[in-house]
Parts: sequence; structure tokens; C-alpha cells
Amino acid sequence: MRKGFLVIISAPSGAGKSSVCRALRARDRSLRYSVSCTTRPPRPGEADGKHYHFLTRREFKRRERRGEFLETALVHGNLYGTPRRFIVSESGAGRVILLDIDVQGAEAIRKRRKTTGVDAVTVFILPPSWKTLEKRLRLRRDSLGSIKTRLANARGELKKAPRYDYWVVNDRLDKAVDQVAAIIAAERLRASHGADGAGLVK
Ligand code: ADP
Ligand code: 5GP
Repeated sequence: MRKGFLVIISAPSGAGKSSVCRALRARDRSLRYSVSCTTRPPRPGEADGKHYHFLTRREFKRRERRGEFLETALVHGNLYGTPRRFIVSESGAGRVILLDIDVQGAEAIRKRRKTTGVDAVTVFILPPSWKTLEKRLRLRRDSLGSIKTRLANARGELKKAPRYDYWVVNDRLDKAVDQVAAIIAAERLRASHGADGAGLVK
């Protein structure tokens, strides 16, 4: 059977990760998406269980103590965590799983690769410019405080870009989505992910 793997998408907030992930999933229904848990309040239009599992801090901490997360991180003042069970079951079933997580989460999963046995390919999405990044945060109707925190944190996040396998500039959304789709297509053909070699290679 083919081996499942993770596709970790990170970027400074507002660069367009969620938009890229949404478009990828619409294009390729076989992709699974890891719905994270967070203590952040929902934005307008966000649904519990679809965009995130919105939890109280107390509930988040309870799940963390029970080992229910593959990784957790404090991002922009809120807690975020990747539910472990979904990753283990879906990767065990040979699926490709998209994760929209920050640079700390990507680092934690890279480090735990040997113990979890789960492969991950990492993609960093870059905005075309600082000006565009700020414009997109405003477009999303983030509060002024949230825009400031996110822009300040973006500098630290960009410093981690060299740790990623691929960089994609999200200038035109359709082009960025084409590029990430090409990365996933290539990774599916990686011999170590169980490309079948037309049944000729034993
Ligand atoms: P992230 O998930 O990285 O925080 P979002 O996907 O929420 O970012 O995008 C931030 C805002 O920018 C949204 O309003 C989104 O519609 C818009 N956006 C994303 N990609 C593009 C693009 N290529 N061109 C124009 N606007 C974009
Ligand atoms: P937002 O609040 O804008 O949805 O996300 C803020 C940041 O948290 C983004 O960089 C997003 O990728 C990251 N994030 C979302 N879920 C998780 C998660 O489960 N783990 C980690 N480490 N980061 C996450």
C-alpha cells in the first residue's frame, strides 16, 4: 500500500495559506485536512469542526494533558494543536493530509518524525510584499491589534522559511495553488511513498 504523508503549509498570517488549502481541497477530493483545535475565538464565517475545533483554554489543556495532540503551539497569544488521532488513522490508511500550521508546529513534527514514523513535506507560502500582506489582513477584517501582532510576528516566521522544503509565492491565487498541487503530485511519486513502479520493482 502507498504510504500516507503530511503536507505542512506554513506562512505569515494573511499570506493566504487558508485560501490555498481550501482551493487545493476543492480540486483534489482525496486530500484530507487536519482540523486543528484552538482557543482563539471564531472569526465571522468560521464554523466549529470545519475551520477549527474552538475550545476553551481549560478544555484545550485537558486534551493536551491526555496526549491528544501531535503538537501544540502558542501563536499570536492563542493556543493551537493538531489532533493526533486523525493524523495517525489517515496516514495509516495511506492518505495525503494537509496541515495549515505555524513554523513551531512544523518544527515539532520534523523533530518527531523518527518516533511517529509519519513523513512530512513542508511548504512555505510567501506574500508578494509586506504591503500586500498588510492589505490582506485588513481585507479579512482582522482587528487593528490583531493586524499589528501578526505583522510583527511575520518577521520571525519568515526567518524560518529556509527550513522548509519548498517556497511558493502567493501572488495570483490560482498560480500558487497550481504550484502546491505540482509539489503534491511529485511527492506522491516519491519511491519512499510507495509509488508502485508499475509492479516491476520489488
Ligand atoms: P492565512 O490563512 O495565511 O492567514 P487567508 O487565506 O485567510 O490567509 O488570506 C488572507 C486574505 O487575503 C483573505 O481575505 C483572502 O481572501 C485574501 N487572499 C489570499 N490569497 C490571495 C491572493 N492570491 N490574491 C488576493 N487576495 C488573496
Ligand atoms: P489563524 O488564527 O490565523 O487561523 O492561525 C494563526 C496561526 O496558527 C497560523 O500560522 C496557523 O497556521 C497556525 N495554526 C493553526 N492551527 C495550528 C496547529 O494546530 N498547530 C500549530 N502549531 N499552528 C497552528
